[in-house]
Amino acid sequence: MFSVSPVNGMEVGHMSHSTDEAILSVKQLSKVYGNRFTTKNIHALDKASLELKIGEICGLVGPNGAGKSTLIKLIMGIEPKTNGEVEIDDNGATTILGYVPERPTFFEDLTAYYNLYYIAKLNRLPDPDGISRKMLSDFGLEERRNDIVSTFSKGMKQRLAIARALVHSPKVLIMDEPFSGLDPTMVFELRGYLKKLKGTGLTVLISSHELNELDQVCESIIFIMSGHIVKKEDIQRGDGKVNMRLVILNPGDAISAALSGLKILSVSPDGGTILIETTKGDVPQILARVIGSGGQVLESAVIQRKAEDMYAEVFMKKGAQE
Ligand code: ADP
Repeated sequence: MFSVSPVNGMEVGHMSHSTDEAILSVKQLSKVYGNRFTTKNIHALDKASLELKIGEICGLVGPNGAGKSTLIKLIMGIEPKTNGEVEIDDNGATTILGYVPERPTFFEDLTAYYNLYYIAKLNRLPDPDGISRKMLSDFGLEERRNDIVSTFSKGMKQRLAIARALVHSPKVLIMDEPFSGLDPTMVFELRGYLKKLKGTGLTVLISSHELNELDQVCESIIFIMSGHIVKKEDIQRGDGKVNMRLVILNPGDAISAALSGLKILSVSPDGGTILIETTKGDVPQILARVIGSGGQVLESAVIQRKAEDMYAEVFMKKGAQE
């Protein structure tokens, strides 16, 4: 049975979602790359601000070159920032961060066990043997613990990389493109492991192009483009936004008046099919308003907003304007 170490006294399984307390705040973070051979500076990140809450599993999405890796490297302190702040709850101690790079590297000639044991020792953990064995078991690598890592498949290495990033019980796990290069079976496996991180109190930031995977694991997504954080959207939350589709037999002014003030995403040419952005909780009230104003409702459906819809809204629209 998979379990990850509870953080800060929180017990596994006792939290289904994030709390409202922030664990990581990025404020007006900027990064300009430049070198002495060229006068052209690259503004990879421009006044980016975001907040991650305790237990939140959040995706980081954007086209290539948007600034995702730069943002991660700045949060991790691997790359120096040009401006701005990264505030971590715990007096700025970087040990609360765990990092899974896009291409993890290991001591390839050493065993899986020793790769973890080494990190546990480096972090001066009280029981390096115990924690190494626990992580191998949590990530389904127990049977291969004495095999050298160079014999591992990419999927096994990816799991070992996550296990290694969690050895020191970080509170925030940051993953750069964890699905890249995995075959469908490995993706399936990894998705399963990530889902099990939900509710453990661990905060996770996952940079990925795999929108369908993010849909299944994340409760929120940050969209980034040209170094700017365009927006952060909730998905898979009770209070998250949904699209409500209404099919009305008798569209007209009365219905329009009943829907005034709501965010209408689209209306069919005959006015009969209306797509509204709202929250699940507001759906019954909207329906009541429409019926109360004489609307003959043929169909009413709630459509959970998917990462792909959001991506299209954010990037296709922007792209079209440019
Ligand atoms: P993403 O991860 O979203 O693909 P990156 O953060 O890697 O984006 O890159 C953002 C921008 O910064 C790109 O224009 C990229 O070419 C540039 N960049 C990234 N790393 C460096 C670097 N070390 N030196 C110069 N430019 C860089």
